Amino acid sequence: MEKYREYKELAQKIRADAVMMTNLRHSGHVGSSLSMADLLPVIYGPVLRFDAKNPDWPGRDRFLLSKGHAAAALYSVLAEKGFFPQEWLKTYYCDDGRFSGHISHHVPGVEFSTGSLGHGLPVAVGMALAAKQQNKTHRIFVLVSDGDCNEGSTWEAVMFAGQHKFDNLIVIVDYNRVQALGKSKDVIDMEPLAQKIEDFGWAVREINGHDFGEIESTLLDIPFAKGRPSFVIARTVKGKGIASMENTVGSHYACVPDDELAAVYRELGATDA
Ligand SMILES: [Mg+2]
Repeated sequence: MEKYREYKELAQKIRADAVMMTNLRHSGHVGSSLSMADLLPVIYGPVLRFDAKNPDWPGRDRFLLSKGHAAAALYSVLAEKGFFPQEWLKTYYCDDGRFSGHISHHVPGVEFSTGSLGHGLPVAVGMALAAKQQNKTHRIFVLVSDGDCNEGSTWEAVMFAGQHKFDNLIVIVDYNRVQALGKSKDVIDMEPLAQKIEDFGWAVREINGHDFGEIESTLLDIPFAKGRPSFVIARTVKGKGIASMENTVGSHYACVPDDELAAVYRELGATDA
């Protein structure tokens, strides 16, 4: 674990920030931020090519958060990487604040505003097509949710990208098997997801989305196959890090109440946020 100390510390910060930010105005989606908190330190570590001081650098890799309701987690890592000051995080969901509840491209480092599900991947496919047509070498990453995988627009994009061999496109599913209105298997069961995606011409890997070694080795091995888009099913736990929230539908639109904050920060191993 020592090897991954930096990842672990950043994941702790992301979780503490998400708890703090969603508590500010008693908003929601803390469980959705916690489940992807171990993916972001690796993505924004050795994987993604970016320049925080020049967010629009044309050669950057693009990262789209299709599950835009988990904005708090992404804002936390963008602050840590220097896209904007940490203090901005304390304006989340606040009147006249810089951050709306869902992700916004008006924030430095954010490529595209999302919130309604099923939008991230189609846009990413357009970006992948444009990069291919212009002989650009940057890659396009999209982090999607269980709910995203239910959307028809997502499947149109999956078909198109597979047929046109967009090996510059990478989807990562925060596969916590819980979504806004219930357990995913009860809403629309996506299984066998890997088989379905492979049938459309993608290369698929399944990993433990909380194991830094697996996340790192997998994301550094992109593209998984020449001429195929890459698809990572990261098996995660909704609400990961707060025992009372883990694997619960209730953690989707929830925050940590004021009187539980101190105990939760201790549980997360964070001194404050
Ligand atoms: Mg989910």
